[in-house]
Amino acid sequence: MLELGKEIKKLEDNGIDMLHFDVMDGVFVPNITFGIPVLQQVRKVTDITLDVHLMIADPIKYVKRFAECGADIICFHIESNSDTLETINSIKALGVKAAIAIKPATPAESVFEYLPYVDMILVMTVEPGFGGQSFISETVDKIRTIRQKITELGLDVNVEVDGGINGTTSSIVREAGANVLVSGSYLFAADNMAKAADSLKEDISC
Ligand code: ZN
Repeated sequence: MLELGKEIKKLEDNGIDMLHFDVMDGVFVPNITFGIPVLQQVRKVTDITLDVHLMIADPIKYVKRFAECGADIICFHIESNSDTLETINSIKALGVKAAIAIKPATPAESVFEYLPYVDMILVMTVEPGFGGQSFISETVDKIRTIRQKITELGLDVNVEVDGGINGTTSSIVREAGANVLVSGSYLFAADNMAKAADSLKEDISC
């Protein structure tokens, strides 16, 4: 954390397309990370797309402040206390892209009615709260179901996955229809970050 600026530069230099910023409040999830002041500092040192994932109990109360601090995408949980459509609309009114996240136990169908209004659906592939967890393979069918529905409706919505993404699980989730992959531990533990980033992006046929 004390070298955050340096770490962000490293990500940019190694072909990472956006920065995923996990905000945890100790209420919605049993962990606390960082919030608005840190995002504000991050925005000052980089032009990279900032994808802010709010794992907080009442996101609608904070979307304006996160938008003002430089979020490009704000993602909140459908399981939170805020009204889903109202929160999507407040995010979009701030000129920021809106996304809904679902936990591993939440069914794919729960997001269907919101698909026409969002830019992205985030399918959690681990229980939210901590980094470094193993991928839950049962979530693959959910990615597929959501991608199929998006195609059926003729929409342009990204499907993002978050949790346990590495060189192996990346091809599984991409084959199922995910096109935005969040990876933390895998990239930072790699000897060659650029190569590791490439391995997440390379064609399924490779
Ligand atoms: Zn996240």
